Amino acid sequence: MTVTLDWFGCTTYRLNIDGLVVFLDTFMDRISSAPDNGATSAGITEADFALIGHSHMDHIEGADIIAKNTGAQVIGSYETARVLRKAGVSKDQLLPSAGGETYRLNADVTVKVFPSIHSCIWSEAAPSGVNLTGDLGVPQQERAARLAANRDDKTSLPEALAAEQTELDKIRIGSSNDGGALDYLIDTPDGTIFFQNSMGYYSGILAKIRADVTIMGCAGRGNIDGEPIQGSVEDYVEGVLTTVQPKRVVLGHHDNWAGAPDTPDLMDITPIRERLSKVAPDIEIIEPGYQDGMNLL
Ligand SMILES: [Zn+2]
Repeated sequence: MTVTLDWFGCTTYRLNIDGLVVFLDTFMDRISSAPDNGATSAGITEADFALIGHSHMDHIEGADIIAKNTGAQVIGSYETARVLRKAGVSKDQLLPSAGGETYRLNADVTVKVFPSIHSCIWSEAAPSGVNLTGDLGVPQQERAARLAANRDDKTSLPEALAAEQTELDKIRIGSSNDGGALDYLIDTPDGTIFFQNSMGYYSGILAKIRADVTIMGCAGRGNIDGEPIQGSVEDYVEGVLTTVQPKRVVLGHHDNWAGAPDTPDLMDITPIRERLSKVAPDIEIIEPGYQDGMNLL
């Protein structure tokens, strides 16, 4: 069996499992100032399934186009299903899930869905290497108010890019709520693959998950059991990987997917590498280039 992985930026990947094509998230139609991932959702002609981690635009965008063009079925939260129904995807192609479901993808491959939780985008965040504390016990209404203020504060793009963004926004889909975070465990005859696209977990659920490969986002403020992590991105990554104990980890969500001006194409993850070399030196860290077609298992 051959299992290959292509990265399209952010946490969008294509798995090809002996001809079974499974997308993990589907966001690839990016603003021109983002590094070029060489792909558009309209250019995807083959997909059997798409597993959507949650329905924010930087994960679900493109799922409607891919589903309509390929007939792929989409597994995601009830919010993901709502967004895609509104975008005109047939109900027959949607498999709304809350976590706890196991789906058969073909005769040899299944995927189990787990309830998960989004990173604390309402809270202070920092790149890896920076320790953050506080923001504990903040009620949801205040979190929502802080998030709205953060969004209003966004640095404005240069004029030409702002015009492009306005055009993109007209066709974009996504949820303004938390999008219903889910994690996925794909089981193939050659091994298991765990996918988590946002830095959050319920510790009691994660404790039961083991996988040969973990594919995870590594940007933002981690969320553990509903509270912001008291620590750094590398503390969060360590928590996931020392629990799930994979042989390999693929790190994502750390490229400049939004095309922010004066931002490197890839965030430096040296602090994560240094931490893992101490606490889990046997885990191979993989940072693929866009559409590398690497062998995963
Ligand atoms: Zn999100």
